[in-house]
Parts: sequence; C-alpha cells; structure tokens
Amino acid sequence: MRRKRAVYFVVLPRHVYIHVPFCARRCTYCDFSIAVRRVVPVEEYTTALGRELDLRFGDRAKWEVDTLYFGGGTPSRLGGDGVRRMLDVVLGRVDLAQNAEVTLEANPEDVTPDAVHAWRESGVNRLSIGAQSFHDNVLTWMHRTHDAEAIGRAVETAREGAFTNFSLDLIFALPQHIARSWEADVEAALELDPPHLSLYGLTVEPRTPLGRSRARGELRESPDERYESEFVHAHEALTSAGFEHYEVSNFGRGGLHSRHNSAYWTGAAYAGLGPSAHEFDGRTRRWNVAAYTEWLRRLEAEQDPLDESEDLTSDNRLAEEVYLGLRTRRGLSLIRSDEPRIRMWIDAGWATRESADRVVLTPHGWLRLDALAADLTHVRSYY
Ligand code: SF4
Repeated sequence: MRRKRAVYFVVLPRHVYIHVPFCARRCTYCDFSIAVRRVVPVEEYTTALGRELDLRFGDRAKWEVDTLYFGGGTPSRLGGDGVRRMLDVVLGRVDLAQNAEVTLEANPEDVTPDAVHAWRESGVNRLSIGAQSFHDNVLTWMHRTHDAEAIGRAVETAREGAFTNFSLDLIFALPQHIARSWEADVEAALELDPPHLSLYGLTVEPRTPLGRSRARGELRESPDERYESEFVHAHEALTSAGFEHYEVSNFGRGGLHSRHNSAYWTGAAYAGLGPSAHEFDGRTRRWNVAAYTEWLRRLEAEQDPLDESEDLTSDNRLAEEVYLGLRTRRGLSLIRSDEPRIRMWIDAGWATRESADRVVLTPHGWLRLDALAADLTHVRSYY
C-alpha cells in the first residue's frame, strides 16, 4: 500500500540535498552511508530517486531552489551521462533560481573532459573535489582510488571545462606514524590556486577500517597538539594567501562560499533525498534509511524510505543556535547573560568581539568549539 510521509514541508525549501551512495571501494576512515559498486546502477538509482521525488512532492507544483547539492558517496561516479540523467529527474520537480548553486562532489579520477562537459551542460556549476592529500603514500594508506597527480589533472580539466567555482577537500591530523608533511600539502593546494578549500581533522570512527585497526592496538591517533598546530598552520597560511576562514572547516577566496552549506549554518530548511539523507523543515529533522538496498526496496514498493524523525525541543533549538553561530565567521548575537563568559573567552584568546553585541571565535576558539558552545548553552539555559 502506498504510504506518504507523515509530515510535509508547509513552505517548500530553497535548498535540496541528494545523496548518491556509490563508491568504488571504502576509504579507511569513511563511515558514510555508501554502496560499493564496480558498475554504478545509474538507471536503477535515478528511477528510484524520481519515485522518491514523486512520493514526496508529486502533489505539489514545481518550486524554485537556490542550491542543489549532490553528495555521497561519490556522485561523480555516475559519469557524464549519469549526472545528466539525475539532473533531468530532479529538474522535473524543481526549478533553479537565477544564479542557483549546483554542487557535485567528485573524486579526481572522475573529472575527465567528457564528464566535465556533460556536468556543465546539465546545470552543475560547482565541484567539490576530494583531494585529501598530495602524498601518494597517504592516499594509498587512506585506500583512495587516485594518486596525487590526478588532483592537479582534475583541477586543470575542471578549469578548462569552465568550472571557476570549485573546492578541494583535505584531511589533517593523521596518525604520527604516517609520513606526511601537512605544510607541504597546504602549499601544494595553494599552488593549484583553488577558490575554496575544506579542511577536516581525521576522526577515527569505530565502525571503519581505521577504527578496527585502533581496536586491535595497531593505530595511534594524532595527539591533540598535532591537530591544533596543523589547524592553526592552515589558518595562517590560507588567510595570508587571501582566503577568508568563514567557517571552522571552510576557506573561500573572492567571496566564494559554499552557499548550500551556509544555508545549513543559518538554520534554513532543506529537503534531503536518497539513502541516509537528512532534512530539516525548521522544526523537525527527518532522515531516510541508510542502506541503499532498503531505500531502493521501499521505493520500488512505493513506500516511504523515511527512517526516523525528531522534533527539536526548545533546548535543542537553543543549543543549535549557539553552535551554528559560533562555528561561522558571522558569529553569534550576544545576550546580557553571556557577558561574563565572553570576557573570559576574549581574555583567553578564544574569541573577539565584532561589535557590541556579536562575538566571533578565533582559530584557538574553534579548536574548542564543542566545549565553548556547550558552556554558553548551559549559561543561557538558566536565563
Ligand atoms: S570516496 Fe568518500 S564516500 Fe566514498 S568511501 Fe571514500 S570517503 Fe567514503
């Protein structure tokens, strides 16, 4: 029997995330919801995605969105024609606003001239390229499918295909036994002159190949000092090169920010489609079943792939407002009860006051983001 979602967007969201789960193999640090496939089932996936769109929004008129984000997994594994087919399906339900941002996550080896041409023609205008490191030994250790040279080739190919808006992802704070110079990696990224970079510290999750190595005592994570010094080095090198450190993990040049991710950080509503995709309507978070096969099975049976939902309580909202404000360069609007804490943070070098009523964390504050956000939330919850 056909079941629809219990809760719909009252106002249709201006931002849409689509999860494309396919990867050639699992990277050692990855705990994302992925489906390892040698051959990507483009037709099967895009047909199911069309079904989910119909099930969710079939009785609503087409609506306009400001950002579309294809994340994964590795959406670029759909290839040129596969991404074209996916865009056809999605654009059957939504219209792109003028100057809409359409991002595709890509692994370097998939960024070929033909694919870039097809992506551009079908409406993609931003690439997020998973570089991770420019050291071949690191890429091998991570079980990545590309070598360092492929990153430079991907950037060149993207540029030749008129992608001026692209980002490179890098991972820092690797275990000490891995021979890697973070300074050299930051330098190599700068040499490619990207307009945007996203930097993530390695976290070893239990249900990953690295997590299992740690459980066997074969892996020791990076000490906190290494995490801190690499984060601060990146901040200094990139801001000196003209980047704005506009969010704890993100740097943009020439005013280019990820508009899709920025929408998350302002608490905007967004729809999420595909296995494991999350969405938020301003009051409730909902997420789909994580396993590709279960998502597919439900949609083939015309059933809702929803897994669970959670209504935000007033405590959740308070915590979220503080956390989202503090993670960005925009900062957080202050209330009177914050003052004693903010003075302490400023004295410690963790924050600066942008104006009488707005505080922004420094890089040293961002290194303590979770603790500072929890602390301020605790203070606010008493008032
Ligand atoms: S390519 Fe990305 S999503 Fe796929 S396994 Fe590696 S890190 Fe995970």
